[in-house]
Amino acid sequence: MNTRDSEVISGLLLKAGYKITDEPERADIIIFNTCSVRQHAEDKVWSEAGRYKNGKIIGVVGCMAQNYGEGVFERSPNVSFVVGPADIQKIPDIVAKLGKDKALFARKIFETEGEARPEEIYHTGFYEDKNHAFVVISEGCSNFCSYCVVPHVRGRLHNRNYEDILKEIQKALEKGITRFTLLGQNVNAYKYESMDFVRLLRLVDAIEGLEEFGFVTSHPRDTSVDLFKAMNDSGKLKKYLHLPVQSGSDRILKLMQRGYSRKFYLELADNYRKIVKAGALTTDIIVGFPAESEGDFQDTYDLVKAARFNSAYIFKYSPRPHTEASRMADTVSRAEKERRHRKILDMQKEISNKLKSQKYEKHK
Ligand code: SF4
Repeated sequence: MNTRDSEVISGLLLKAGYKITDEPERADIIIFNTCSVRQHAEDKVWSEAGRYKNGKIIGVVGCMAQNYGEGVFERSPNVSFVVGPADIQKIPDIVAKLGKDKALFARKIFETEGEARPEEIYHTGFYEDKNHAFVVISEGCSNFCSYCVVPHVRGRLHNRNYEDILKEIQKALEKGITRFTLLGQNVNAYKYESMDFVRLLRLVDAIEGLEEFGFVTSHPRDTSVDLFKAMNDSGKLKKYLHLPVQSGSDRILKLMQRGYSRKFYLELADNYRKIVKAGALTTDIIVGFPAESEGDFQDTYDLVKAARFNSAYIFKYSPRPHTEASRMADTVSRAEKERRHRKILDMQKEISNKLKSQKYEKHK
């Protein structure tokens, strides 16, 4: 999502007459498009943003801007402006004002009030890759999983009109782009009037000239057998599903407010394997969520073993501001999180390697 947002910002600035440089030292304006999902990503921005001084216009935009607001200026006094994810269309104007009147550097500009983005920002025609485009189909998320900062920084779920989405794809095709990834924080919850996600996939699949497409990220609760059938029927849709499970313990899933059970997830994974021939399945897991006992962890370990994911992103829990989980006691020690992380990682590596070599044997 941030990669696409960065393209949108670049596209807007290019349209306004600015040029892109790969050398930060030569740039007059440096914009950090930031992520707040994990502490580690934020720490990197704090250290990078402090590096540039000497009269450059420095912007911090995206989720950290929304998360910290005015606090960004306190922590990083050389930052010239802060803009939240729903206000990125204002960046060219802000930069122009700052460029014209140096006195404004002292005032800083702060925009984090917007709710839905204007549709035009997706039609600048700028894509970094010559053969692949990310296409946002929905913004934000209304799920409020207890550990997740996304609904707090990106707002509630907002679906784009499918006609605009199809227009954007058509325009990119005219530029010679033939591969696409449909994006949403909760992509398969897409709904616009009578258009749902599966119907949208079928429409995209029928577009002439489009060679391949995929989508991220899906929520298990919004995933259906109909989706698997659409994936299997399509000759263009990638046979790849990223379906974050987060935990294998029903107790922890409830605390996380994920809205499904371990049994529901395993049945879903099983149906996927049966319906989508040779489909790859990947997931996200959080270890060390508040109050995660050894038994809860064992449930996650067993689920990972049973689901046989092609790969998994395993994260050690860290509290994020504004979230419900941040008000729970972070009971699992750092060393224990480390041990749980390592244990699942080692097993997952073995499974991933086995699945890879089986695939290789089949192709021989
Ligand atoms: S569904 Fe995903 S983006 Fe939405 S709140 Fe849950 S983890 Fe965050």
